[in-house]
Amino acid sequence: MLRQDFNRIDPKRRNVSDYRKKHFATPQFKDSQYPHRLNFYTQPPTADITIEQFEQWAIDRLRVLAELEACSFRNRTPAETAAHMEPILEKYLRLDSNSSGSSKILEQRQKDHYSHFILRLAFSSTEDLRRRFTRVETMLFRIRAEHDSPSEKADFAASLDLDWLEKVSDDEKFKYSAELASVAGPKKGPVEDESWYKVDWDRVPDLVQARRAFLRAGKAYVPAREQFSIVVGEFTTRLERQLELTARALPRLDEDDRLTPILNHLSKNFITPDSSYLASSTAPEGAQITAANIDNLSKHFPACMAHLHRSLRRDAHLKHFGRLQYTLFLKGIGLNLEECLIFWRTGFSKITEDVFNKEYRYNVRHVYGDVGGDSNRRSGGYSPYSCQKILTENPPGTGEAHGCPYRHFNMENLTILLQGMGVSDKSVLQGVQEDNERQRYHMACNRVFEHIHKAEMKKAKDEGIMTANQLETIVHPNEYFKRSYVLKNLGQDKDTKMEG
Ligand code: SF4
Repeated sequence: MLRQDFNRIDPKRRNVSDYRKKHFATPQFKDSQYPHRLNFYTQPPTADITIEQFEQWAIDRLRVLAELEACSFRNRTPAETAAHMEPILEKYLRLDSNSSGSSKILEQRQKDHYSHFILRLAFSSTEDLRRRFTRVETMLFRIRAEHDSPSEKADFAASLDLDWLEKVSDDEKFKYSAELASVAGPKKGPVEDESWYKVDWDRVPDLVQARRAFLRAGKAYVPAREQFSIVVGEFTTRLERQLELTARALPRLDEDDRLTPILNHLSKNFITPDSSYLASSTAPEGAQITAANIDNLSKHFPACMAHLHRSLRRDAHLKHFGRLQYTLFLKGIGLNLEECLIFWRTGFSKITEDVFNKEYRYNVRHVYGDVGGDSNRRSGGYSPYSCQKILTENPPGTGEAHGCPYRHFNMENLTILLQGMGVSDKSVLQGVQEDNERQRYHMACNRVFEHIHKAEMKKAKDEGIMTANQLETIVHPNEYFKRSYVLKNLGQDKDTKMEG
């Protein structure tokens, strides 16, 4: 699947006699043709892609799946979810229809195909990951199916080998006509005029739940017009089965030192997708990012950084990881090195210039890539931490102020912090508590963001200036800051723009 030039595995290790490995080494489906927009992903891809594509495509799909999961955490209806996902799918995983005449169809479908299989590898290792992956992939399949034209959808359904789909005989239709009519709804004329299928009830749980199927002896009787629900059910069933098979094959991947780290990273990111924060998307236009203005800007900080800022002001000191987390954040919002040094120097007001220079100055410069080895300088130092990193690495100990308050504070301390940020609404605090109990820390943070910026978000939406980025769930403290700043300054500064 990956080009040989990226292969760092000793070729001798590939020369194996194990028939299962030979099976994996022989590409059998090299040139997938993708006749349909929808895909059941029955055949693994085997054509060459670069390792960069491997990683980027997986990250793009992960953004989509994480956003779908966020929609379900927020109890969005299917229609709200579809509307919310439209720009996100457009951006990360666009799929044109056959009738669109797009020249990108093959490219888009290839990316869709590969990214599905890469995440299948990443998310098959535990039952919990498999369950969540199946759920969000099914949501994605359903949304896409709903946007497919009826004819393309019918062609796709016809291409599937649904041999277990049993047609209900005329005798049976007559026998259960009253029951069938009761689930057919008001429309639809005599039950006998319509084709009906019967399937095991657990293949169509959504129809059963919505009482749109008649149940008898373990079978669900489904009208032909609901056939696509059967297809969606089949998608789920096959994916569950495939994921279990993938889980059994996983140990064989251990020998691949290119893929295993990427896959481990991806599966960790299913908690909160990591987003690398780009230097080009740092300071919002028009913002005065100076040491003297940080107190003022701190009203746009997420809880993690607000807590660090308050702790610094209270104690005139922060311990190592707190300084690191906060310096990186400040660098990410666009504070330059000189200003950052002023910020820390004035912040550590109880120590002498000499102590500051000896113990702290070097570290700040190192973070900015001003000192250190060649690679540190070339790369411009470290990148700001994402939520995923803050949530999962280096939990704070006693006297330390870094970490994520939603994860690392008890509810009492978190409530005090949030009240200090202007959140006293009981239902919001209750929601935060529930999010945290379910370990959805970034959702709690987004809930708070949406509460604090409710009016501005409404305005931005009403005026059509919310871009795809503005609609995505926040997974990075710097994105929180930037979005907050831009929203709170809507209309005040003509240079302040929503960047997509
Ligand atoms: Fe900070 Fe992310 Fe936690 Fe929000 S979820 S407080 S941005 S680490």
